[in-house]
Amino acid sequence: MDFQMARRMSDIKASEIREILKITEKSEVISFAGGLPAPELFPVEEIKRVNKMVLDRDGQRALQYSTTEGFRPLREWIAHRMNSRLGTSFDCDNILVTHGSQQALDLSGKVFLDEGDVVFCESPTYLAAITAFRAYGCSFIEIPTDDEGMIISELVTQLEKCENAKLLYIIPDFQNPTGRTWSLERRKELADISARFGVAVVEDNPYGELRFEGKTLPSVKSFDIAGNILCTGTFSKIFCPGYRIGWIAGDKKIIRQYVLVKQGTDLQCNTIAQMEISKYLELYDIDAHINKIRTIYRKRRDLSVQTMEEVFPTGVSFTRPQGGLFAWVELPAHINSRDVLEKCLEQNVAFVPGGSFFPNGGKENTFRINFSNMSEEKIVEGLNRLGAVLNKFID
Ligand code: PMP
Repeated sequence: MDFQMARRMSDIKASEIREILKITEKSEVISFAGGLPAPELFPVEEIKRVNKMVLDRDGQRALQYSTTEGFRPLREWIAHRMNSRLGTSFDCDNILVTHGSQQALDLSGKVFLDEGDVVFCESPTYLAAITAFRAYGCSFIEIPTDDEGMIISELVTQLEKCENAKLLYIIPDFQNPTGRTWSLERRKELADISARFGVAVVEDNPYGELRFEGKTLPSVKSFDIAGNILCTGTFSKIFCPGYRIGWIAGDKKIIRQYVLVKQGTDLQCNTIAQMEISKYLELYDIDAHINKIRTIYRKRRDLSVQTMEEVFPTGVSFTRPQGGLFAWVELPAHINSRDVLEKCLEQNVAFVPGGSFFPNGGKENTFRINFSNMSEEKIVEGLNRLGAVLNKFID
């Protein structure tokens, strides 16, 4: 090839998860690797009906270009939902509809990051956020976390030392990859810190609605003093990821900037998808649908935790998430989870090694387990096989 690509391309690697997912397409593989919702829960019949209604009643509009901001009734629904669940006070002009919340992350990079800027994130953090931000030439400072979220004293120490801190990226509810949830106290502290240091926050929240027990906590955004905090949401986990419809919410001035960069990216999200989701929300009870999802995932979480307790050897620890899709496993320090994966693949079992969730590398003795995408029978069988492999490593 006789051309030169942009410098940013030298940092772009194939996502390890997407590579593993290719292997797990084989039907005999029991995969804890992806982050896929359970497909049997997609409301296919309802969507057929909604699709026909939208096309019958408003077909020309549904197939036409529409505004960058997004379909107004959908934005109104999103604002109302966030206000009633998360303690925010948004109206529809605080909301930009995006191509999944993944696009909201990419646009955040476009809005905030210059080359050489620093993103602060939890250690570990969401792999595709690292990829999205890294394309804008930033570096990462990872802040250690415990069962209550980011360790704030460590964040302050690092912020005091850093001259080009631009963005704090956090996933306070059922984090990907650890499944952990931040305490109320840490949420308030984080909001204070963002005001004190004048750093923008992206609070990424794809899993918040999938709580199996305990009370919903207010968002970090609800404690925002300075207008620095943006939060994302998505229909991917509570409805269907294939629609690729999510959003970013924040103060109107900053959302306006997001609208401008989205115009240069893709003009707008898919008109008919937004109208179909909106019609579904009008005709059907999304809460009943989410309850169905929660009930099934709760059972799968219970079974996963119970089986891991039974079959994993001493010295292996794991999180017990109160919601979401993932648990996080930590092995004794000398064991590399990529070696474990290699042995597991021989047994047709897959998971994602933890190393790639750390933007600066390290912690190879960890891995992520997804419990939402498989039948109970396969969960038990897969974890038993995994336990047997682990036992060989630890003997
Ligand atoms: N943020 C986090 C933390 C995620 O885990 C995911 C999905 N795996 C996303 C964002 C993107 O989801 P979507 O684009 O489907 O809304």
